[in-house]
Amino acid sequence: MSEQERYVERTPASAAAYERASRLIPGGVGSAIQFFTPHPLYIGDSRGSRVWDLDGNEYIDYLLCYAAMVAGHANPYVVEAIKAQADHGTLFGMPTALAADLAEEIMRRYPAIEMIRFTQSGVEATQTAIRLARAATGRRHIVKIEGSYHGGTDHLLVSIGGAPPEAMGPPDAPTSTADSAGLLPASTEYTIVAPFNDLDAMRAAFDRCDGDVAGVIVEPAMTNGGVIPPRPGYLEGLRQLTRDRNAVLIFDEVKVGCRIAPGGACQRFGVTPDLVTLAKAIGGGVPVGAFGGRRDLMEEISPLGPAIHFGTYNANPLGMAAGLACLTKVMTDETYERMEALATRLAEGQRKIIADLGIPACVTQVATLGGILFTPTEPTNFREASRCDVSKWWDYWFGMLNRGVIPMGSAWFEEWSISAAHTEADIDRTLEVTEEVLRAIYA
Ligand code: PMP
Repeated sequence: MSEQERYVERTPASAAAYERASRLIPGGVGSAIQFFTPHPLYIGDSRGSRVWDLDGNEYIDYLLCYAAMVAGHANPYVVEAIKAQADHGTLFGMPTALAADLAEEIMRRYPAIEMIRFTQSGVEATQTAIRLARAATGRRHIVKIEGSYHGGTDHLLVSIGGAPPEAMGPPDAPTSTADSAGLLPASTEYTIVAPFNDLDAMRAAFDRCDGDVAGVIVEPAMTNGGVIPPRPGYLEGLRQLTRDRNAVLIFDEVKVGCRIAPGGACQRFGVTPDLVTLAKAIGGGVPVGAFGGRRDLMEEISPLGPAIHFGTYNANPLGMAAGLACLTKVMTDETYERMEALATRLAEGQRKIIADLGIPACVTQVATLGGILFTPTEPTNFREASRCDVSKWWDYWFGMLNRGVIPMGSAWFEEWSISAAHTEADIDRTLEVTEEVLRAIYA
């Protein structure tokens, strides 16, 4: 029996939930990334490092809602904060004092953030950050990195990795491909693409736009392709180039923010951008996003300036309370250190298994995030990562699920993450299972 057939046998309740939901909801899922064939896994319960599917199967979870659940599932501090706030109301359409509390905690971690606005999601943060860059500079083009995902907004759904290799263009000057139907030509016209970790290509992208680059948006450690660390000097070079060309440097820290260090990539890599976008960890598992940075740029935002930023649910009290509990009560310096040690234990364990078995795979790690790719050499950009063996990845995915581990996000280019609730025993069990699965795949 194949691993996929075993998966079907173990998950009849998910199959039934899918059968019902898919008649009502496209793909039976709220976001396409959650979909996979033969049917997605439907979750019924969670606690700490574990989730249970509708059949009651238990999993050690390294998906963690795409790294958002940094405190672990149903963390008692976060649950208590949500309950306490719910007793007093969840939305008012008038501000509460909670947003300034969370703002102060984030600014304590991020000296680069002099003012901040909260959103409900990462995509609203990145979308508004690029609007702000255009408003502040009066320029049109945004440069993004090939293969990077910044949320489903039209101007950033460009070259996210969906195009066939023959449509991707030269590696050092990638073609801007529209990766969704329904985009206007302006989306690809004004979004220029450069490969990660290549300053010459970035300089050339600026030159092609002839002084009309409003800003560069980059994930300082790129998370589409496992997790790809920045080369030494790359972020510093981007900082210098954007400063020289008067363009706004935006660090998209939606996934890495308050996760790879208390002050995210800014702290970890010691580079100060003009704007930072955040989400995931700062909401403690409740939908919260944010963008913030230089005061003069943030003063472009309404009501101080002409760039609009609205949202019924912005700075919603549940999210503010959950985020504050997560950051102040759970995510202490000691927690970050412990999580990173666990991530290193996992990455080193995975590397050892791969080396012992002599299989063509590699592992990357940046602090509490990591990736396993079925390609022999560690990638430095998306194209290199995309040369991996995707069919082996599917065998790995179902093999791990069948043995009680959700090993990473549900696609080859995703990554694994560690939460504050993971333990050494979780990691050691995961490594046992990994060895069993990889041995079977390459037998
Ligand atoms: N930026 C990055 C780097 C992301 O990883 C994501 C989502 N995974 C987003 C932006 C979009 O965030 P959201 O899904 O909250 O809109």
